[in-house]
Amino acid sequence: MIRSLLIANRGEIARRIIRTARKMGIRTVAVHSDVDAAMPFVREADEAVCIGPAPARESYLVQAKILEAAKATGAEAIHPGYGFLSENAEFAEAVEAAGLVWVGAPAHSIRAMGLKDAAKKLMVEAGVPVTPGYMGEDQDPAHLKAEADRIGYPVLIKAVAGGGGKGMRKVDRSEDFADALLSCQREAASSFGDDRVLIEKYILGPRHIEVQVFGDRHGHVVHLFERDCSLQRRHQKVIEEAPAPGMDDATRAAVCEAAVKAARAVDYVGAGTIEFIADASEGLRADRIWFMEMNTRLQVEHPVTEAITGQDLVEWQLRVASGEPLPRTQDQLSINGWAMEARLYAENPSNGFLPSTGPLTRLRLPRGIRVDSGVEEGGEVSPYYDPMIAKLIVTAPSRPAAAAKLAQAAARVEVWPVRTNAAFLARAAADPDFVAGRVDTGFIERHADRLVPTTEPSAAIEQAAARALLPEGSDAWTRLIGFRANAAAERRVEVEVAGHSRLVAIDDGAAGGKLRAVGSETLLFLDGEAWPVEAPRADHAGGGGAVSDGALLAPMPGKVIAVDVSEGDTVTKGQKLLVLEAMKMEQAMLAPFDGVVAELNASVGGQVSEGTMLARVAKAED
Ligand code: ADP
Ligand code: ADP
Ligand code: MG
Repeated sequence: MIRSLLIANRGEIARRIIRTARKMGIRTVAVHSDVDAAMPFVREADEAVCIGPAPARESYLVQAKILEAAKATGAEAIHPGYGFLSENAEFAEAVEAAGLVWVGAPAHSIRAMGLKDAAKKLMVEAGVPVTPGYMGEDQDPAHLKAEADRIGYPVLIKAVAGGGGKGMRKVDRSEDFADALLSCQREAASSFGDDRVLIEKYILGPRHIEVQVFGDRHGHVVHLFERDCSLQRRHQKVIEEAPAPGMDDATRAAVCEAAVKAARAVDYVGAGTIEFIADASEGLRADRIWFMEMNTRLQVEHPVTEAITGQDLVEWQLRVASGEPLPRTQDQLSINGWAMEARLYAENPSNGFLPSTGPLTRLRLPRGIRVDSGVEEGGEVSPYYDPMIAKLIVTAPSRPAAAAKLAQAAARVEVWPVRTNAAFLARAAADPDFVAGRVDTGFIERHADRLVPTTEPSAAIEQAAARALLPEGSDAWTRLIGFRANAAAERRVEVEVAGHSRLVAIDDGAAGGKLRAVGSETLLFLDGEAWPVEAPRADHAGGGGAVSDGALLAPMPGKVIAVDVSEGDTVTKGQKLLVLEAMKMEQAMLAPFDGVVAELNASVGGQVSEGTMLARVAKAED
């Protein structure tokens, strides 16, 4: 077994790998960029080496610097995580050439699966069903269009070197093909340095089904069942689960066998994923699932597989890389329960899902479930890297229970001032169609209206704000606004939510969110959303917020520091009567309406306890 490991990655996956390495007694070395120096993964590793400035091209992607760091720290092995250099065959070779152990896929497998067209051809030879389409050399636009016409619309143009959901264009009509091809080639050239494309039939009712595979150096290959990653936004995974809803035993056996066959075809060693696209318009069927691509690395969503199989896939990786056989045979693996993972992103769904980077002044993630995160409260989401904040992973005996747990977990997320997709995730996980297992890759787009939260506070949010702002206690109303409300009257309060000022009638049955002071702001956290709120002040209320019987009560214990009126004085609504100093703040007590000061029980310098009646104004017409 290797005794030391350098992790050529950052954030949550670096921490995830450190966790298992520590459990196995393996010393860990982190490499990091300047801006990541204070990140948890750097602190948690036994040793850390700074390898350059923030841009990944100057740090996490510089092979020589990583190899140098391994040498300097005496690390025996390198784990690439996912992204970055994980699927870089030259790096895999360079690591081994340096006499180090590569905890990734073999260079020859990475190469064989690196380009989607070559991979598909290889799979055809291996007898694995592939998505129908064109994957030839001839890249002449007229030829490509003729192929698309032959395949039949809709088709999907894909960059052969593509990844991460980029470099894809769906084309619905022949006349749109030429433009879509040009824009796809442009994106492919700039993102992947390769403008070659392939064309696939666009599968209807598409579901993304993938199979976790594992190989060792002794010729064993097993699968660890399937995951369903159909909940996607712009071809990028948002919620993943295992097993796949609606998968019967025969279909599972077929797709998992195809995956093992695919892995064997490239002499696979280590953790890998075979991605399939399924036409689920009539449910999952073995003859309607096709190979799409292979990801030759540990996948972001590997925890759901760990959850249902009870295995630690990073431990498997480290054992296999050390030359051990696979920890389990196929017969020793089985599915237990249901797991779901949601990717919590620093992005603003109400603003076209634009990334939202910046400080994490508040970051509270749900307890009692598995949370894989790379950041902590007080840290930040850097604009240089992937804006994922955390993966929320739940396990339950059944799918509906897992969905409920996930919805609840997402709803409990508290992040500020960075915006997140937590509310969106909570809504998606609680959506009746999702709960019923009616998922495909178009789910999010189809239901955007009900999944994407609005920027304007709803009546329910205003209610929750009013409720939350009301302090606990019998005479909460008085404590809130500084005078006793007319019991018979409707209790209304002026609240300001996200800059919108509203007069809200208090409904005792309304849901109350959690109120938190974050920096200089007061935030209401409810259902995964964060709303800046302003506590109503006495002068707000005096300005018309509530109906009062005219009694002004001390909202909290304090000292009277000014009295501007005497008994019998005529006062007008909103006029300042006296000032109380409480908790280092001055609070003006105002006349709730036009009238006469009928009682005055306050003198300058006097200490008052909470609830003391300081003055009473009698209505003018009384
Ligand atoms: P998956 O199928 O697991 O979602 P993709 O093929 O979509 O993976 O993308 C590769 C993975 O690498 C993504 O999950 C993405 O978050 C991650 N990734 C991409 N760029 C970076 C980066 N700069 N830093 C860390 N991770 C990254
Ligand atoms: P990437 O390398 O970016 O992950 P993939 O080939 O895995 O690219 O495709 C990404 C996503 O695009 C899939 O998960 C699926 O939602 C969608 N997709 C890919 N191919 C097809 C297809 N032929 N028909 C319908 N949807 C597809
Ligand atoms: Mg993919």
